[in-house]
Amino acid sequence: MRIGLAANRLHHSRLGSPLFDWLRHTEAGIRELDLDLCAVGGTYDAIVRHGLLVGYARLQRYPRGRDGGLVKLVADVVALDESDNVLDGMIYLVDPIDSSSILPEAIALKRQCVIYQKPFISTVASAFDWIEMERIRAGLAPDDAADRFHAISSQTLALIAHDALKSQMASFVDDHFELLSQFAHRVSTGTTGGNLNALAWALGWPQGRLWTECCRSGPIGGDAQIANLIFEQRCDRLFFFEDPHVARQHEADIQLLERAVTAVTNDVVCIASPRVARHWAEMTEKRAKLRPC
Ligand code: PGA
Repeated sequence: MRIGLAANRLHHSRLGSPLFDWLRHTEAGIRELDLDLCAVGGTYDAIVRHGLLVGYARLQRYPRGRDGGLVKLVADVVALDESDNVLDGMIYLVDPIDSSSILPEAIALKRQCVIYQKPFISTVASAFDWIEMERIRAGLAPDDAADRFHAISSQTLALIAHDALKSQMASFVDDHFELLSQFAHRVSTGTTGGNLNALAWALGWPQGRLWTECCRSGPIGGDAQIANLIFEQRCDRLFFFEDPHVARQHEADIQLLERAVTAVTNDVVCIASPRVARHWAEMTEKRAKLRPC
């Protein structure tokens, strides 16, 4: 598996920075999984300077962002599956107030990951969670340190889908209804939530009781309401099935939500496409059998 790696300066400026925290905790898993990590220049140099992943031959240096490193990562995300360069996903730890996080190449990186339904991991919590899912997929033992991400019975899950993806959201919820019903609380934008409540009642959820709480519809403020819950640390996980193929009149609200997630990087896990959400659900169900939380 080949993964791109980039982090805004805040995340690799000193030894206690979040990128290094993540690498220290997951270094054994990275080595066990034989992950190829393709790191843009500044991130690579910081990893080497701080003495992490020492001697790990699968850590590769890409050019710095200003010299085309991010563009190269985008090209590798969209490369043909049989190409040697193709990336299976991207870890891009975003600092929401770092202006480089809104450069076209950074936005294209996210967008192409969504189009090809590859993981785009923008928070530290998502990076921890993703490594654990890959460990489970590879048949490795669950890591105790990842238990906190799996305590879903005390967590709030936000579910949002753009119009073209609403049917995929419904079939995802249908297929994993038992798992998703274990969250303490669910919250959605208005139309997505209305659909999911109707589905839940059809699946036997008690009539008259909401399966997911409905905010306003996304374009008229629902995305902002959920962003606020995220900022207030009242939401732990966001599944946002984005439609990257249409012009979105509420782009600002969508960006607001994405930037909220990266502002609470250590605590919120964000998944932006159905394939990645399904992988999470399947691996979480598998992990729960190995290690009931
Ligand atoms: P909706 O909002 O669930 O109300 O359609 C989704 C969105 O566009 O954010």
